[in-house]
Amino acid sequence: MASSSVKVAVRVRPFNSRETNRGAKCVIQMQDKSTCIINPKQPKDAPKNFTFDYSYWSHSSEEDPSFASQGKVYQDIGEEMLLHAFEGYNVCIFAYGQTGAGKSYTMMGKQDPGQQGIIPQMCEDLFRQTAENTDPDLSFSVEVSYMEIYCERVRDLLNPKSRGSLRVREHPIMGPYVEDLSKMAVTNYSDIADLMDTGNKARYYSFQLHANEIKISLVDLAGSERADSSGARGMRLKEGANINKSLTTLGKVISALADMGSKKRRSDFIPYRDSVLTWLLRENLGGNSRTAMIAALSPADINYEETLSTLRYADRAKQIKCNAVINEDPNA
Ligand code: ADP
Repeated sequence: MASSSVKVAVRVRPFNSRETNRGAKCVIQMQDKSTCIINPKQPKDAPKNFTFDYSYWSHSSEEDPSFASQGKVYQDIGEEMLLHAFEGYNVCIFAYGQTGAGKSYTMMGKQDPGQQGIIPQMCEDLFRQTAENTDPDLSFSVEVSYMEIYCERVRDLLNPKSRGSLRVREHPIMGPYVEDLSKMAVTNYSDIADLMDTGNKARYYSFQLHANEIKISLVDLAGSERADSSGARGMRLKEGANINKSLTTLGKVISALADMGSKKRRSDFIPYRDSVLTWLLRENLGGNSRTAMIAALSPADINYEETLSTLRYADRAKQIKCNAVINEDPNA
């Protein structure tokens, strides 16, 4: 059993056109692993400093030597996690941050060359490595499932006919899982790309690859902005409260796990079952998994409060320790 911390990275994107047109100022600075944020209303105050496993400066462009490309993020995080998956660990990568901060860009990216995110790069790498396998005792089969958790309901994005929500159940050995969730056999990345196109209306989703006994979960969370700042009312507010239930619970779980990791608390009750998201991610958060979190940051002064709260969230997540064990293939 290997006890390891959740790998935590932050990444700051370029200004969008709206920010550029409004003459936004960049409040984020990075050096090596550290990130600091300046309060635009109190520019004389000392900047707040944070250190992470990786601080990715993607605010500029390729010409800048400190620029972190999609390839760089994949090499650091994706390659390591894929290696752990091949070693037999459960693996999870999730993206966190305010809407528009760059979660989907980091996880999915765009089709253009050099713009692909972690998911397509990891899938291609996975198939490349399984194709290179020459060990006659090893065979690989890869299955994909793709689900959305919205308003505390789980929807199967690969089975559009399943209108209702699926139940989350607990397997005595494998832990929480979604009952009747489709698993599609795939043999290359374009199969996966086609499946993702089918189910692409996701609000926030979890994407899982099952290759034999390994499980890779790739999770794009909903925007982390608080309902109180979005001015939502009525139905939207209810949706917001439900969406936030998963995210708020995720925050509580991360805090409780962080306290355990730093020995401020021991074996306390962790409220995994208070939301669907945290129940499903239980093993990935505090249990049997190698997990990485990438927090997406907006560079702009107008988003200072949200960005600071994302940095604090990421800072808590650093203290989580997971106890990953290698899965045995019961068919071996
Ligand atoms: P989120 O998923 O957090 O809501 P997106 O990933 O959709 O945010 O990003 C918002 C916009 O910013 C998109 O148009 C996206 O292409 C762009 N963007 C985000 N991160 C980057 C980046 N690192 N480099 C270039 N463009 C980015």
